[in-house]
Amino acid sequence: MTDAKIRLHVDQPLGKGQTVNLDRDQAHYLFGVMRLVEGAGVLLFNGQDGEWLARVADAGKRGGVLECEAQTKVQGAPPDLWLLFAPVKKARTDFIVEKAVEMGVARLLPVTTDFTNSERVRVDRLQAHAKEAAEQCAATWVPEVAEPQRLDRLFAGWDAARRIMYCDEAAPAGTGALSGEAEGPWAILIGPEGGFSESERAKLRGLPYGLTVSLGPRILRADTAAVAALTLWQATLGDWR
Ligand code: SAH
Repeated sequence: MTDAKIRLHVDQPLGKGQTVNLDRDQAHYLFGVMRLVEGAGVLLFNGQDGEWLARVADAGKRGGVLECEAQTKVQGAPPDLWLLFAPVKKARTDFIVEKAVEMGVARLLPVTTDFTNSERVRVDRLQAHAKEAAEQCAATWVPEVAEPQRLDRLFAGWDAARRIMYCDEAAPAGTGALSGEAEGPWAILIGPEGGFSESERAKLRGLPYGLTVSLGPRILRADTAAVAALTLWQATLGDWR
């Protein structure tokens, strides 16, 4: 048990006795905002070495040093699930990224589609959201947010071993039960607020590695659809079981 409540992702090696240098922002957050003093505990993870309890060894205004004391969790991994989503308005896109990390995905891929209507996607901002969500939800990894790709190009280079759960609001409720489907690498595909175009739909329905799935009889907003689809997948094929 530890008294540490704050979790931070760091880009440095973690191990017994290892010291971790804090940058200005991290120091400001820990010592300026959270008022930690020397000796206070912080939980650290870096996506490789599990989670560690570290103690503040030096608290400064522009930096500081933590020292790793003991491992509190072994390194974990999310299921091999990607979320392909068409970016929507900024706040809803942020929501999709945050919730996907909490629900458990390995990778987030923004895709542009015929009807994608959004401001330019700032991958660095989304990646920062993913990191914060991982810190908050006790994951020991931060899913990668990939550069946006066009849907057609994405499928041109697709690995057929990764199944795609294509969420289609036009499919009758009950379409595409996941139970009985094989475990393994999957991706969930959620369209933009305007839906997919007819030619995209035709292509998506014909994907040999695709599974067309309904999320019920009502039309969900893209952010709701993402959480619903992740729930369904996690409960049927993922790490909720
Ligand atoms: N074009 C639609 C709305 C699209 S909703 C319209 O206005 O009529 C945004 C995305 O959420 C869709 O592309 C789909 O991937 C997903 N989605 C929403 N409701 C869904 C449902 N009931 N079943 C499956 N997918 C759904």
